[in-house]
Amino acid sequence: MTELNKISMTLEQAQLVAKNLKDETRRLVKEDEFLAMDTWPVEKGEQAVLIALPDTEDVSKPLHEIKWRTGVPLQVEVDKQPFYYCPKCNQINPSNTLALTNICCCTGDRTNYTQAKQLIIVPLKIWKEKLLDITEAGAIAEGFENKVEFLKYIYGCYVNYKIHELKESDEGYKEAEQIRVQSRKALKKIMFHDEIVDGLWNPGVWGIKFKLEEL
Ligand SMILES: [Zn+2]
Repeated sequence: MTELNKISMTLEQAQLVAKNLKDETRRLVKEDEFLAMDTWPVEKGEQAVLIALPDTEDVSKPLHEIKWRTGVPLQVEVDKQPFYYCPKCNQINPSNTLALTNICCCTGDRTNYTQAKQLIIVPLKIWKEKLLDITEAGAIAEGFENKVEFLKYIYGCYVNYKIHELKESDEGYKEAEQIRVQSRKALKKIMFHDEIVDGLWNPGVWGIKFKLEEL
Protein backbone atom coordinates (compact mmCIF):
# COMPACT_ATOMS: atom_id res chain seq x y z
CA MET A 1 0.00 0.00 0.00
CA THR A 2 1.40 3.37 -0.91
CA GLU A 3 1.70 5.87 1.86
CA LEU A 4 -1.10 8.38 2.02
CA ASN A 5 -0.70 12.10 2.31
CA LYS A 6 -1.66 13.34 5.73
CA ILE A 7 -3.90 16.06 7.05
CA SER A 8 -3.67 17.13 10.67
CA MET A 9 -6.71 17.89 12.78
CA THR A 10 -7.34 18.61 16.41
CA LEU A 11 -8.83 15.81 18.47
CA GLU A 12 -12.23 17.56 18.49
CA GLN A 13 -12.24 17.93 14.73
CA ALA A 14 -11.28 14.29 14.13
CA GLN A 15 -14.02 13.12 16.49
CA LEU A 16 -16.63 15.16 14.63
CA VAL A 17 -15.48 13.69 11.31
CA ALA A 18 -15.66 10.13 12.68
CA LYS A 19 -19.20 10.83 13.89
CA ASN A 20 -20.23 12.21 10.51
CA LEU A 21 -20.86 15.66 11.98
CA LYS A 22 -18.26 17.43 9.89
CA ASP A 23 -17.53 17.23 6.18
CA GLU A 24 -15.68 20.46 5.49
CA THR A 25 -12.41 21.88 6.72
CA ARG A 26 -10.68 25.21 6.16
CA ARG A 27 -6.96 25.95 6.28
CA LEU A 28 -5.06 29.18 5.95
CA VAL A 29 -3.52 29.65 2.52
CA LYS A 30 0.24 29.60 2.88
CA GLU A 31 2.69 31.43 0.71
CA ASP A 32 3.55 29.50 -2.44
CA GLU A 33 0.32 27.54 -2.44
CA PHE A 34 -2.02 27.74 -5.38
CA LEU A 35 -4.98 25.89 -6.82
CA ALA A 36 -4.43 23.97 -10.05
CA MET A 37 -7.43 23.56 -12.29
CA ASP A 38 -7.65 22.16 -15.78
CA THR A 39 -3.92 22.56 -16.24
CA TRP A 40 -0.82 20.53 -15.60
CA PRO A 41 -0.38 18.39 -13.63
CA VAL A 42 -3.97 17.64 -12.73
CA GLU A 43 -6.50 15.92 -14.95
CA LYS A 44 -9.34 17.92 -16.42
CA GLY A 45 -11.99 18.51 -13.81
CA GLU A 46 -9.70 17.50 -10.99
CA GLN A 47 -8.57 20.04 -8.40
CA ALA A 48 -5.37 20.09 -6.45
CA VAL A 49 -3.57 22.48 -4.19
CA LEU A 50 0.02 22.72 -5.22
CA ILE A 51 2.95 23.97 -3.21
CA ALA A 52 5.64 25.64 -5.23
CA LEU A 53 9.01 24.22 -4.26
CA PRO A 54 12.18 26.28 -4.23
CA ASP A 55 13.88 26.46 -7.59
CA THR A 56 16.24 23.59 -8.06
CA GLU A 57 19.02 22.72 -10.48
CA ASP A 58 17.85 19.13 -10.48
CA VAL A 59 15.45 18.83 -13.44
CA SER A 60 14.16 15.48 -12.22
CA LYS A 61 12.62 17.21 -9.22
CA PRO A 62 9.15 18.65 -9.72
CA LEU A 63 8.69 22.37 -9.27
CA HIS A 64 5.51 21.73 -7.35
CA GLU A 65 4.33 19.27 -4.82
CA ILE A 66 0.71 18.23 -4.56
CA LYS A 67 -0.73 18.81 -1.11
CA TRP A 68 -4.35 17.80 -1.56
CA ARG A 69 -6.15 16.48 -4.59
CA THR A 70 -9.80 15.69 -5.22
CA GLY A 71 -10.43 11.94 -5.11
CA VAL A 72 -7.11 11.16 -3.41
CA PRO A 73 -7.44 9.90 0.20
CA LEU A 74 -5.81 11.71 3.11
CA GLN A 75 -4.95 10.13 6.41
CA VAL A 76 -6.17 12.17 9.38
CA GLU A 77 -3.59 12.71 12.09
CA VAL A 78 -3.98 14.05 15.62
CA ASP A 79 -0.74 15.12 17.29
CA LYS A 80 1.17 13.44 14.46
CA GLN A 81 -0.52 10.10 15.24
CA PRO A 82 -3.04 8.42 12.93
CA PHE A 83 -6.54 8.76 14.33
CA TYR A 84 -8.49 5.53 14.92
CA TYR A 85 -12.17 5.17 15.62
CA CYS A 86 -14.45 2.22 16.18
CA PRO A 87 -16.95 1.79 13.35
CA LYS A 88 -19.24 -0.33 15.53
CA CYS A 89 -19.81 1.88 18.57
CA ASN A 90 -18.52 5.03 16.90
CA GLN A 91 -16.48 5.51 20.04
CA ILE A 92 -15.55 9.10 20.61
CA ASN A 93 -12.02 8.04 21.43
CA PRO A 94 -11.27 10.60 24.17
CA SER A 95 -7.52 10.80 23.73
CA ASN A 96 -6.96 8.88 20.53
CA THR A 97 -6.29 5.84 22.73
CA LEU A 98 -7.43 3.51 19.97
CA ALA A 99 -4.30 4.52 18.09
CA LEU A 100 -2.34 2.54 20.68
CA THR A 101 -4.40 -0.64 20.67
CA ASN A 102 -6.16 -0.53 17.32
CA ILE A 103 -9.02 -2.47 18.88
CA CYS A 104 -12.20 -1.62 20.73
CA CYS A 105 -13.94 -3.94 23.19
CA CYS A 106 -17.26 -2.10 23.03
CA THR A 107 -19.24 -5.34 22.71
CA GLY A 108 -18.60 -6.00 26.40
CA ASP A 109 -17.29 -9.40 25.42
CA ARG A 110 -13.58 -9.33 26.14
CA THR A 111 -12.89 -12.04 23.59
CA ASN A 112 -14.74 -10.24 20.83
CA TYR A 113 -12.84 -7.13 19.87
CA THR A 114 -13.70 -4.80 17.05
CA GLN A 115 -10.93 -3.71 14.77
CA ALA A 116 -10.65 0.07 14.91
CA LYS A 117 -10.49 1.95 11.63
CA GLN A 118 -8.07 4.62 10.59
CA LEU A 119 -9.79 7.87 9.86
CA ILE A 120 -9.26 8.58 6.16
CA ILE A 121 -11.01 11.29 4.17
CA VAL A 122 -11.35 11.89 0.45
CA PRO A 123 -11.51 15.50 -0.79
CA LEU A 124 -14.49 16.05 -3.09
CA LYS A 125 -14.03 19.73 -3.78
CA ILE A 126 -11.32 22.27 -3.03
CA TRP A 127 -11.74 26.01 -3.24
CA LYS A 128 -10.28 29.28 -2.04
CA GLU A 129 -12.21 31.93 -0.13
CA LYS A 130 -11.75 34.59 2.51
CA LEU A 131 -12.08 33.49 6.11
CA LEU A 132 -14.95 35.87 6.91
CA ASP A 133 -16.91 34.83 3.81
CA ILE A 134 -17.90 31.51 5.36
CA THR A 135 -21.68 31.06 5.35
CA GLU A 136 -23.74 29.77 8.28
CA ALA A 137 -24.19 26.54 6.28
CA GLY A 138 -20.41 26.35 5.87
CA ALA A 139 -19.90 26.74 9.62
CA ILE A 140 -22.36 23.90 10.25
CA ALA A 141 -20.55 21.71 7.69
CA GLU A 142 -17.42 22.48 9.72
CA GLY A 143 -19.13 20.94 12.74
CA PHE A 144 -19.98 24.21 14.54
CA GLU A 145 -23.26 25.64 15.66
CA ASN A 146 -22.75 28.86 13.73
CA LYS A 147 -20.27 31.19 12.10
CA VAL A 148 -19.34 32.95 15.35
CA GLU A 149 -18.39 29.67 17.05
CA PHE A 150 -16.38 28.65 14.00
CA LEU A 151 -14.43 31.92 14.02
CA LYS A 152 -13.73 31.70 17.74
CA TYR A 153 -12.24 28.29 17.10
CA ILE A 154 -10.12 29.50 14.19
CA TYR A 155 -8.84 32.40 16.27
CA GLY A 156 -7.92 29.92 18.99
CA CYS A 157 -5.91 27.88 16.49
CA TYR A 158 -4.19 30.65 14.56
CA VAL A 159 -4.28 33.85 16.59
CA ASN A 160 -4.48 33.46 20.35
CA TYR A 161 -1.92 30.71 20.77
CA LYS A 162 0.64 32.77 18.87
CA ILE A 163 0.42 35.65 21.32
CA HIS A 164 0.86 33.31 24.27
CA GLU A 165 3.99 31.85 22.73
CA LEU A 166 5.67 35.19 22.12
CA LYS A 167 7.30 37.64 24.47
CA GLU A 168 6.79 41.34 24.01
CA SER A 169 10.38 41.75 22.94
CA ASP A 170 10.10 39.00 20.30
CA GLU A 171 10.07 39.72 16.62
CA GLY A 172 6.57 39.24 15.34
CA TYR A 173 4.88 40.16 18.62
CA LYS A 174 3.59 43.45 17.32
CA GLU A 175 2.19 41.83 14.21
CA ALA A 176 0.56 39.04 16.21
CA GLU A 177 -0.98 41.60 18.56
CA GLN A 178 -2.30 43.53 15.57
CA ILE A 179 -3.87 40.39 14.16
CA ARG A 180 -5.50 39.67 17.49
CA VAL A 181 -7.05 43.12 17.65
CA GLN A 182 -8.24 42.90 14.04
CA SER A 183 -9.69 39.44 14.54
CA ARG A 184 -11.61 40.60 17.63
CA LYS A 185 -13.06 43.47 15.63
CA ALA A 186 -14.01 41.05 12.86
CA LEU A 187 -15.81 38.79 15.33
CA LYS A 188 -17.81 41.73 16.62
CA LYS A 189 -18.83 42.69 13.09
CA ILE A 190 -19.99 39.15 12.41
CA MET A 191 -21.90 38.95 15.71
CA PHE A 192 -23.78 42.13 14.97
CA HIS A 193 -24.16 41.40 11.26
CA ASP A 194 -22.20 44.51 10.42
CA GLU A 195 -20.48 45.11 7.14
CA ILE A 196 -17.00 43.65 6.81
CA VAL A 197 -14.56 46.51 6.33
CA ASP A 198 -10.94 46.60 5.18
CA GLY A 199 -8.22 46.10 7.75
CA LEU A 200 -9.89 43.28 9.65
CA TRP A 201 -8.05 40.01 9.86
CA ASN A 202 -9.46 38.16 6.89
CA PRO A 203 -6.86 35.81 5.41
CA GLY A 204 -7.37 33.53 2.40
CA VAL A 205 -8.37 30.00 3.31
CA TRP A 206 -8.59 26.71 1.46
CA GLY A 207 -11.94 25.03 1.83
CA ILE A 208 -12.09 21.27 1.43
CA LYS A 209 -15.35 19.35 1.18
CA PHE A 210 -14.71 15.67 1.87
CA LYS A 211 -16.28 12.30 2.56
CA LEU A 212 -15.15 9.44 4.76
CA GLU A 213 -13.18 6.81 2.91
CA GLU A 214 -15.21 3.58 2.71
CA LEU A 215 -12.81 0.68 3.01
ZN1 LIG B 1 -16.32 0.12 19.73
